[in-house]
This record gives sequence, C-alpha cells and structure tokens, in this order.
Amino acid sequence: MTPRIPPVQLFIDGQWRNASADRRLSVIDPSTEALIAEVADAGVQDGLDAVAAASRAAPAFARLPARERAEMLRRCFELMMRDKEYLAELISFENGKSLADARGEVAYAAEFFRWFSEEAVRLNGQMGTAPGGANRIMVQYQPIGVSVLITPWNFPAAMATRKMAPALAAGCTCVLKPASETPLTAFAMVALMAEAGVPNGVVNVVTTSEPGPVIDAMLADARVRKLSFTGSTQVGRTLLRSAAGQVISCSMELGGNAPFVVFDDADIDSAIDGAMIAKMRNGGEACTAANRFYVQRGVYGSFATKLAARMGAIKVGNGLDPATGCGPLITTKALNKVSDLVNDAVARGARVLAGGTRPQGKGYFYMPTVLADVPKDAKLLGEEIFGPVAPLVVFDTEAEAIAMANDTEYGLVAYVYTRDMAKGLRVSEQIESGMVALNRGLVSDPAAPFGGVKQSGLGREGAHEGILEFSEAKYIATNW
Ligand code: NAP
Repeated sequence: MTPRIPPVQLFIDGQWRNASADRRLSVIDPSTEALIAEVADAGVQDGLDAVAAASRAAPAFARLPARERAEMLRRCFELMMRDKEYLAELISFENGKSLADARGEVAYAAEFFRWFSEEAVRLNGQMGTAPGGANRIMVQYQPIGVSVLITPWNFPAAMATRKMAPALAAGCTCVLKPASETPLTAFAMVALMAEAGVPNGVVNVVTTSEPGPVIDAMLADARVRKLSFTGSTQVGRTLLRSAAGQVISCSMELGGNAPFVVFDDADIDSAIDGAMIAKMRNGGEACTAANRFYVQRGVYGSFATKLAARMGAIKVGNGLDPATGCGPLITTKALNKVSDLVNDAVARGARVLAGGTRPQGKGYFYMPTVLADVPKDAKLLGEEIFGPVAPLVVFDTEAEAIAMANDTEYGLVAYVYTRDMAKGLRVSEQIESGMVALNRGLVSDPAAPFGGVKQSGLGREGAHEGILEFSEAKYIATNW
C-alpha cells in the first residue's frame, strides 16, 4: 500500500493553483524508479506571486499577539502528531528512507512547532542605561520580514519545520521552496498548517525545476528580507552572491564532513552504537553523517570487526517495507557518486570489510559498507559521501586525531568517544565545528543551536537562536 498523494499544485495565498505555464515536475520513487506524481513546476512569475502574497499578509501577521501565533504553532504540532504515520509513509515513499527513520523525522520535525510555539511568547527585548548615563537603551525584537526558505530532500519535513516554525514564531511570512525530489511532504505539511489556522499568504509553497532563475528573481525583490537555506555549500555560495544585491540577511545550513574519533579508552560497544546512528541515520544521507572514522590503534581492530558485523547485518530494501533498515539513495546520480568514491578508495589500497557493491535490479541501492586502512589521499575523506559508507583510519596520538579531524573546509559536527571526560572536553574545544557529540551518536535537538562553522554555514537553527535569525533588534535611545 502506498500513501495518499497530497495536492500537487503551488500553494499561494492560501489557494492551490497550477503553475502559470502549466508545466509539471516528476517525482520518482527511489526504491522502484517508478513515477509517483507530477507536481506544479513554477516559473519566475509564480515565485514573485508567492512573494507578493507573503508581503500582503505580513503586516497583519506581524501585529498578531504572540500568544495567537504560539497557539497556531502548537496546533501544527498536534496535527503532525495526529497524522504522524501518514507523514512518515509519505516521506519514506518519496525519499526512500526506512519507515523507522521517517517516523523519527516526523517526531523531530513536529518538535520544531512545539519548541517555537513556546519561544514565540519569550522573544523579550532588553532595557539598559548607556554607560555615560546619557540615555536609556531600549531594545525590542521585530519580525525581519518576508522570508524565502529553501530546503533539501534528505529531511523533507524537518528542514521545512526548522525554518517555518521560527519564522512564524517571530511574526514573519514566508515562501518555502522544497527540493524537487521530495515536494509531496511540503504540500502535505502546508495543508496541515492551513488546517491549524495559519492565515492565507503566511506560508506559500513553490516547487520548480528551475530554482536558479526563480530564486534569483525573489532575491532581487526588495520585499524579501531573509533567506534561510539548507543544502550544499556550492549552492549556498551562489545564493550568498545573489542575496548581496538587496543586502538580504542569510542563514546558511550547508554541507559537512564529520569526523568520528574513537580513543583507546572509549566504551567500544557504546561507540559502535553511536557510530551506527551517526553513520546510518537516513542511510548516511545526512549533513551530520559521520564521514571519516579515526580510531586509536589499541582499539582499531576490534572497532573495525564489530562495525563491519553491524553494517553487514543491515537489511537493504524498499523504505516502505517495515523490515528495511536502509533504503535506497535518492537518485542514480547520488548512487554513482557513492560507488565512485568507494572504488577510488579501494583502488588506492583500502580494504573492504563489508559491502562495497550495489545490488542488481531497480532502485538506487548501495550496500552498507565498511572500508579499513583508508589512505589519506582517498577522495571520500575529503568530501561528503552522503551514503552508507564508513571509512576507517588509524591514529596514535590525541594531537594527530585533532589535526586530522580539522583537516577540512567544513565544520558542522564532530563525534568523540572517550571515558576520560577531561580529554573529551579538551578535544571538543579544539575541534573546529559548530557542534560536538561527546559519547553520543546524535546531536539534532530542536532545543539546541544547530549549525556549522567554516564552510558549513552561517547562523543557527533551533534553540532561542533560531527565532533570532528571523528577528531584527530595534534599538530606541530613550530619555525620560
Ligand atoms: P542542493 O543541491 O544544494 O539543494 C538544496 C536546495 O537548493 C534544493 O531545494 C534545490 O532545489 C535548491 N537549489 C539548487 N540549486 C539552486 C539555485 N541555483 N538557486 C536556488 N536554489 C537552488 O543540496 P541537496 O543535494 O538537496 O542536499 C544535500 C546537501 O544539503 C548536502 O550538502 C548536505 O550536507 C546539506 N544539508 C545540510 C544541512 C545542515 O543543516 N547543515 C541539513 C541537511 C542537508 P532542487 O531540488 O530543485 O535542485
């Protein structure tokens, strides 16, 4: 049984409508390569219509009492919980991830609505006295304005709620541009938000096969004041250039290349459990995925053997099959990239301990893979694998582990396993990343500031910081 398909038109000003050129964009099931649906394919004018709708809705929405916006967001959370099984099936259908992963994503995505329903009423300003005593310094937070939100295909629900919830909490209206591989989840979510009472024009959804021109036109429109993007560093750089024209505020959640460091004194079984989550959540298609495993010499052999056994035991199959542990990759292009990276590492001398092959037949599947003794020049240590492949590298000293962990232009997240908390904290402080998981395989939490340093991004999502990304501090110098 496949899930019900939501409306597949553009959602602008509270109405479902076709793209003005009546073009369609195909959505493919990555497990079977069959066509799932054809959705509206917006052109530039449709994008600008969505900006106009968001702009018209902005003043009234900004004036709403925060409590009303909070209760709206709380209803969104409750409706997501009501529909959680349906949403999980829809995510699994269009993205391919296992149902277990999709259920986890729905719970995570819904939490952003709950968290920001709570933050909406806590956006307090400050009052102080100027050091010279001349005046009072009054600061209040105002909505930044119309926001363009661009999301990737790997977490089609959570990447959208991580932006929409703080935007609405701050009092902003928005246009969401979901990834073209996974637009159905966005349509289902916006239908649910309308049911929750979100007013017309506050959230608009535009799907397009031409993101470049459509987004460029939006960013050239002076009504847009915010761009919040999650995706690759390469596209992020292009968008930062486009946003410069109107000096638009940018939040960027970009690529990663996470190191996973295991010291000799680590609890190895716990490190293996953590490694399985850090590597295999979403089949490895996560910006937070452990991309490089650095294991200290004393435990290298046992860690490699145990990880290979766990990875080799994963059942690969259609995401909608409840027995599946790892679904397909998103596209044939992604599959070829993973396969090429593994072949490159093996050609340079890496040993295959598990997997290393793609199964025959339909679907973009790749077997969970462990590679040992990966040489430093292997391409997969330098770029995002975005697939179920764990490359292992041995190290001897703490300094060597830190140097290797930092040897990347990315800096999103790092994982560190040790029983020595002083060492764990010392290493955490020296690793150049926005987030560190210390004796854990997962960092994502709506209550925590998520984001990267270096070329992994700008700004933070979630926590209190998330609402500030959609707010402007207004300073009023006051005498009384
Ligand atoms: P992507 O190719 O950069 O696409 C992301 C989004 O940008 C999609 O909606 C895409 O639309 C759109 N886009 C592509 N070209 C554009 C352009 N010229 N102008 C405006 N929009 C454009 O990334 P992806 O392959 O979907 O996602 C994987 C990447 O996202 C990885 O690098 C991963 O690390 C990163 N990611 C980061 C985080 C984080 O929080 N840091 C979270 C998840 C994923 P189309 O789908 O139509 O191409």
